[in-house]
Amino acid sequence: MTKIGFIGLGNMGGPMAANLAKAGFEVTATDLSIGAVDRAVEAGCARGATVADTVKEADIVVTMLPAGAHVRSVYTESYGVIANAKPGALFIDSSTIDVDSARAVIAAASDKGFAMVDAPVSGGVAAATAGTLTFMVGGEAGAFERSKPALEKMGKNIFHAGAAGNGQVAKICNNMLLGISMIATCEAFNLADKLGLDAQTFFDISSTASGQCWSMTSYCPAPGPVPNAPSNRDYQPGFAAAMMLKDMRLAQEAAHKAKAATPLGAQSEAIYALMEAAGKDSLDFSGVMKLINGEL
Ligand code: NAD
Repeated sequence: MTKIGFIGLGNMGGPMAANLAKAGFEVTATDLSIGAVDRAVEAGCARGATVADTVKEADIVVTMLPAGAHVRSVYTESYGVIANAKPGALFIDSSTIDVDSARAVIAAASDKGFAMVDAPVSGGVAAATAGTLTFMVGGEAGAFERSKPALEKMGKNIFHAGAAGNGQVAKICNNMLLGISMIATCEAFNLADKLGLDAQTFFDISSTASGQCWSMTSYCPAPGPVPNAPSNRDYQPGFAAAMMLKDMRLAQEAAHKAKAATPLGAQSEAIYALMEAAGKDSLDFSGVMKLINGEL
């Protein structure tokens, strides 16, 4: 039976590790939080006392950590994955991190003979729990093929985005587009309202016209037209504005390095930062509607 070492059992990693255990993999799991490890044990995983203990017998190591610094540390320090994994193990990092860190860690793994992919996800806690995440995978074709049996137990769409780091590229470009389109949708609904056009009527027209986009039809930031959207539960997430801001900042960092012009991305990052400054970044990112309509 394939053995998996899972590191990072937070909001996303917890249910992902549980799905791997449920699918019959022998999962050893660890986290800095004992409570998170306790929950993973209840879900069928074995307790990993340390990172080294978690990876030493694993055929596949999966990490789901907050940011690039955590991923660099967990993989490259002496207590970490590369120094303690068994020869031939495959590494999968599903955290959303900066492209440079993803590429540096994959290169460090490769230097020691390990195959590794970056495999960030789209879909939040509900998709992680349901096993319906979308994975965007960067890395060599062989490593991608080897990662698929495990990824398929955590997600329903698995894409090979190309070379190392390209999973992160796909993720931040998609989320930059989403972050921009959400603000644009808020502006349109707010203007319609100010001009005397109600949200449902504008939705009925625009969702079948050329302004149509996912932010409108699946996640409408104006209360009413999309019943299960966060706007109908006072913008409880969903996908928090703080997480969107993290991804917008990663996109801007990458854009600066690549000398890519992203004027709307830059402006949108600044707008989500205003939600942070207002102490409202725990709201869903579609709560940017409150900033646009003057409620914040
Ligand atoms: P989280 O903060 O809930 O979980 C991260 C976990 O990593 C924590 O439990 C923390 O204790 C653990 N951790 C940190 N350093 C560690 C170490 N050295 N050793 C062991 N464990 C360590 O975060 P999350 O919401 O699960 O998100 C994880 C990643 O997934 C992030 O990169 C995030 O951007 C991305 N993501 C999150 C969502 C979402 O909706 N929450 C959606 C898509 C992508």
